[in-house]
Amino acid sequence: MGQDPTNASQEDTKIQDVKVEDTKAQDATAEDTKTQDIKAEGTKAEDVKVEDTANTQSETKAQQEKPESDTKKQQEKPAQKRPNRARKPRSNQKKWDISQFEVAPVEGKRRFHDLNLPDVLMHGIQDLKFEYCSPIQGEILPHTLQGFDAIGKAQTGTGKTAAFLISLITDLLTHEVEHERYLAEPRALIVAPTRELAMQIAEDAKKLCKYADLHVVLMVGGMDYTKQKNAMATKLVDIVVATPGRLIDFMTRKDLHLDMVENLVLDEADRMLDMGFIPQVKRIVRATPRIESRQTQLFSATFNYDVLELAHQWTHEAVSIEVAPENVATDTVDQKFYMVSNDDKFKLLVNLLKQDDVTKVIIFANRRDQTQRLYDRVKKLGIKIGILSGEITQQKRTRTLEDLKTGKLDVLVATDVVGRGIHIDGVTHVINYTLPDNPEDYVHRIGRTGRAGAEGIAITLACEYEAFEMPAIEDLLGKKLTCELPPEELLKPY
Ligand code: AMP
Repeated sequence: MGQDPTNASQEDTKIQDVKVEDTKAQDATAEDTKTQDIKAEGTKAEDVKVEDTANTQSETKAQQEKPESDTKKQQEKPAQKRPNRARKPRSNQKKWDISQFEVAPVEGKRRFHDLNLPDVLMHGIQDLKFEYCSPIQGEILPHTLQGFDAIGKAQTGTGKTAAFLISLITDLLTHEVEHERYLAEPRALIVAPTRELAMQIAEDAKKLCKYADLHVVLMVGGMDYTKQKNAMATKLVDIVVATPGRLIDFMTRKDLHLDMVENLVLDEADRMLDMGFIPQVKRIVRATPRIESRQTQLFSATFNYDVLELAHQWTHEAVSIEVAPENVATDTVDQKFYMVSNDDKFKLLVNLLKQDDVTKVIIFANRRDQTQRLYDRVKKLGIKIGILSGEITQQKRTRTLEDLKTGKLDVLVATDVVGRGIHIDGVTHVINYTLPDNPEDYVHRIGRTGRAGAEGIAITLACEYEAFEMPAIEDLLGKKLTCELPPEELLKPY
């Protein structure tokens, strides 16, 4: 596989940033030590000067003639203790204020500055290098910031996570609780279908809350229950991000109480429905305050009759905002469909992986056994590949995702369930080794690349049977797709 200079240099920059920080820290220590040394030397020099004036010659002589015991005495003299200084903050350390975050107004774009957000949140937004709202943020925030419920049709890659987090964090910061608060009673609850997605949301929430005094706790299966419980043992919890199963465990054991939830977010509702989580989610929603006493935001990439029904059942006079999938899927992702026989698929895959511009790849397959077989075969070729599927432990999944992020792995093979939660910038290619049974999954898969404004390429390897499923995808995208034969060189033996 070739190296993508853009990615490599981005990673490099990150590493350099960290290094620079380290070096700075070291430099600072070095500087400190130096200053002390200079001071110490200064003192010595002054001493010498005084003696110098007295009589250099006699001093030298005296030193030479000094009895040994005297020298010893001097050496043994205990070091003087530094006096305790109560340090005030340096006067030049200016407290952050909004004047340090300048973003020029641009016609047709909404700035976060125009939304009257708390300074501590704006500071977090600046650290994330967000300047203008993404379309979903620009449309939904003016409503949700006023306390309205919202139903959002948007998928990952649109900035929907920040959209619901920014309104929720603002609400928590601007409405103090008047009654007494107790442990294990969150003020906001975010429910997501997969562990990866919940982890990503919790990570984003922590980043946005970096300067706000809000405590975020993650509750997902496959990780230590006690550790998650302990995160709420001594500190009031503000925001809980959870998957339905683990949340129900907490509720059943009475380790978490949802009756004080002011903000509820249900993310990827369609996926929760597909995964059979709706009975659990219904129980969770019932445990929160009445519909008028909480603010509810529900997001889904697709809305069939069932999702719509639930959305209306769980929200109150909600505004509906939609970011059309074609805006997401087709704008930044170049979609290719190669017609290929089943026998030639693996050969085509390997040749694709060997292309120079193919640097960070996610391969999707429909079933676990297919992902496992692909993983084994690609690994044998010496390609740095990882695997994500339902049977892999959470710890291993997290490590694998981290390895793809940092470049220790170049390729990842995944099933839809876990693949959907992957949020990694810089994925250059998504390869569909098999076409998903469900057209919505296709849109989700290709949304793993072309993220955050970058260009991405999605290549689907369709055998003759799979080609029949293309019209359903075309309907969803509202766009005609062309299926072509792969170039000869991609079918040569590898
Ligand atoms: P999401 O759709 O929530 O998964 O977000 C997709 C990516 O867009 C994430 O990497 C976010 O950090 C990034 N993002 C979200 N909002 C903005 C924004 N306003 N400006 C730039 N990047 C953003």
